[in-house]
Amino acid sequence: MNPAISPPPGNIARAVLELLVRATEAKAVADAYVFSTDAWELSEGCDELTRAAAGHVRCFYMYRSGRLVESANFGLDVLRLLRRVSLPSHLSEVLRWTGFSACETGDFTLAIDLATESYRIAEGEGDMRGRIIAMTLLGGVFERSGDPWQAERIMRNALDLARELKEPYPLVTSLNNLGAVLIGKFYTMRDSITDREEAERVLLSIHPLVKEAVTLAPTIDDQFILTLTRGNLGEVLVHLEEYDEAETLLATVFEEAVARGYRAIQGRVKCSQGELLLARGDFSGAIATLDSIRVLETVREHVATQLRLHYALYVAHRSLGNDSHALAELEQFRLLESRRSIEQLRAKSELMVTRFEADENKRRSIEQAYELARQQAKRAAALQKLALQDDLTGLPNRRALDARMARAVERARESESPLSVVMIDIDRFKSINDRFGHLTGDRTLNEVAAVLRATFRIGDFIARTGGEEFVVVLEETDLRATNLLCEAFRTNLLEHSWAKLAAELFVTASVGIACSPPGELDELLDLADQAMYRAKESGRNRAVVSAAAA
Ligand code: GH3
Ligand code: MG
Ligand code: MG
Repeated sequence: MNPAISPPPGNIARAVLELLVRATEAKAVADAYVFSTDAWELSEGCDELTRAAAGHVRCFYMYRSGRLVESANFGLDVLRLLRRVSLPSHLSEVLRWTGFSACETGDFTLAIDLATESYRIAEGEGDMRGRIIAMTLLGGVFERSGDPWQAERIMRNALDLARELKEPYPLVTSLNNLGAVLIGKFYTMRDSITDREEAERVLLSIHPLVKEAVTLAPTIDDQFILTLTRGNLGEVLVHLEEYDEAETLLATVFEEAVARGYRAIQGRVKCSQGELLLARGDFSGAIATLDSIRVLETVREHVATQLRLHYALYVAHRSLGNDSHALAELEQFRLLESRRSIEQLRAKSELMVTRFEADENKRRSIEQAYELARQQAKRAAALQKLALQDDLTGLPNRRALDARMARAVERARESESPLSVVMIDIDRFKSINDRFGHLTGDRTLNEVAAVLRATFRIGDFIARTGGEEFVVVLEETDLRATNLLCEAFRTNLLEHSWAKLAAELFVTASVGIACSPPGELDELLDLADQAMYRAKESGRNRAVVSAAAA
């Protein structure tokens, strides 16, 4: 007994994997589909990774064997699994297969969603090959939905990228799909009298593309792609009126498709064979061939083949004078076409809605960013208000001074000890800025702060209260001591090595001193300020003691 079919207990996951290997080794896609279906059913109780792997493989063979509606539904289940276990390359493949199935069965909205997701994943993974294949899917969706012009634009971009990448698989795929898109464009235009010449030109441009795809296809060792491209070439040859070549090719491709179980390709090739008979004037033969496939599930599911089928049958019946049959086929054709147009419009309007939503989201996130910035600015302002430090010099600021003064005044009152306040304003600071630049001005302020720190004592409170104004609060310090410190400060300032900031830079300051006789504590700052102005008036670079304190 085969261990892969009858698994030993507890080893189910291994048995699933063995079945999957057998599926990939099977010659016919029909067998591969059976193995992968067994694997999927057996994986029911397995871990999610094994189940996702089985779903991935089954999806592939379901799509390749032409079970389109089934594949579009099953694909969605597998996608849910794959999203949970996060296998990005498997995920983007299943997105594409499911997308192609949805596209062929006419669910363009779903197909566009899947193509877009697959493209984004490939983009995120830096997977150019995946991006190109996602683009071919998107191109396919536009062609199938009746907009071959948009499709052609996308497919030509995909082909350009594929030629740059120089990898055979995406190159063959994009050549083949551009060919398919252009065949679709030809079908859309050939009906119309005004477009007939353009349709001929389109037809002529397809041949070299599909021929190149057929020539390159054997290098990728994928029988499905080879059969697919050869089938397309056969279809083009029919319309190019290369009947003999088309007949031989289509016959072999049909045999291949049957042998391998590519049911969707079988339907399409049979349709081309019917069109070939029609083109040769064998109307009854054409009708017989085409009627034989209209019952096939894969043909019923494949909207594009349905359209071709009804159109060819309409022409054949009309040519034979079977007016009622011709009319019936034409009605079916128009019905499908209008249904397709409705689906197309729906998909496009959803696309527009999605775009609108994306814009809306973008707008909202910009607004959120603005709101955040507003809040941050508010908070920053609030914090700055709360902050007690001056950014430039790191000294306490005006707010800190006010708080400190209130406490110092209280303590001075309680202890009945002297309190001194010194107001310092740099002389002609504006001209320092003007001569040496604002940056040197800033550095100067920093140096002045350093000189202040170095001159005054640890317990003295030094604040920067304005641009080039400083205040020092000296507790338990009388006028004499304060005066000495201020003179020391003036000397230190004069002797400071300003040249390191700028040659010819000299800095002096005017100083106002106020000291408290009891009862005048609250006015100390004002008195010091007035004294400082007197120092300015009397020629700057000096210390003046408040008259009230003197
Ligand atoms: P005076 O001797 O009368 O005090 O003259 P002055 O130039 O020092 O006085 P004024 O008040 O006219 O000019 C003060 C200058 O200080 C004006 C302003 O541009 C400058 N200033 C204020 N804050 C800053 C600062 O943070 N950095 C710099 N570089 N300059 C500042
Ligand atoms: Mg000033
Ligand atoms: Mg000044």
